[in-house]
Amino acid sequence: MFKSTFHSHSRFDDGREELEDYIKEAINRGFQVFGFSAHAPVLFDSIWNMRQESFDEYMATTKALKEKYKDVIEIYTGLETDFYPQCIDFRAVPGIDYTIGSVHFLKHEESGEFLSVDGSPEDFEYSLHKGFNGDIQAFGRAYYGELRKMLCTMPPSILGHMDVFRKNNKGNKYFHEDDAWYRAEVIKTLEIIKQSQVIIEVNTGGISRGYVTEPYPSRWILEACHDMGIPVMINSDTHHPETIDFYYPEACALLKSIGFRHQRVLFGDEWRDIDL
Ligand SMILES: [Zn+2]
Ligand SMILES: [Zn+2]
Repeated sequence: MFKSTFHSHSRFDDGREELEDYIKEAINRGFQVFGFSAHAPVLFDSIWNMRQESFDEYMATTKALKEKYKDVIEIYTGLETDFYPQCIDFRAVPGIDYTIGSVHFLKHEESGEFLSVDGSPEDFEYSLHKGFNGDIQAFGRAYYGELRKMLCTMPPSILGHMDVFRKNNKGNKYFHEDDAWYRAEVIKTLEIIKQSQVIIEVNTGGISRGYVTEPYPSRWILEACHDMGIPVMINSDTHHPETIDFYYPEACALLKSIGFRHQRVLFGDEWRDIDL
């Protein structure tokens, strides 16, 4: 199996360990490509995101690693960027090879507060009540609506953990994925993804961290991607060198069972379809 991840965090943001530790482990495990995607700096207080002061060091460190390991593994410098009103556009920053666009927070217009989408169960409850008076449909529509706004106005290379909205929905606590309103939101979003040719990642990070038992997005969404010709890639969203390829054989088998034959990856400085 062609092994790569374009989604990884380190001590620069909310992950652990040095960037080089990830590269050493990736080489040990037979990776062909490794992409760094620190949570890009944001314009509000956050404990997850890289600080603006660390940005230059992040860029310099990834560049030095590319050079040092160029005969062994391809390394790319990416960012996982948050989308919110008036957010920073990092896509054209020199040295940035790709971006993963994610919505982790929704801005509450009245208070200006940033309400988390994929935090702890308590955070989710807080967002639901503070922002949406307990109306789960309104919360879900706002989340998918924000994804669509990002895809239309600032399309990233890769869409991050598309249905992370279900992270705290264990046992269908808040909704069923086959509820008509939920399916309609997802399908509307996929239609925009199809036009923009953004890649959907199969993200195994929620499993390695014990939040969910299936990768993001759910199988039915991947089936729809297959039918619609939307490209996919397998990413570990790793926060530690130990989990860089967590659940990869299973994710690969899942994609094959749906009918996918390739994943789209950045390789040789080009986006290309590589056999699964
Ligand atoms: Zn994320
Ligand atoms: Zn991430």
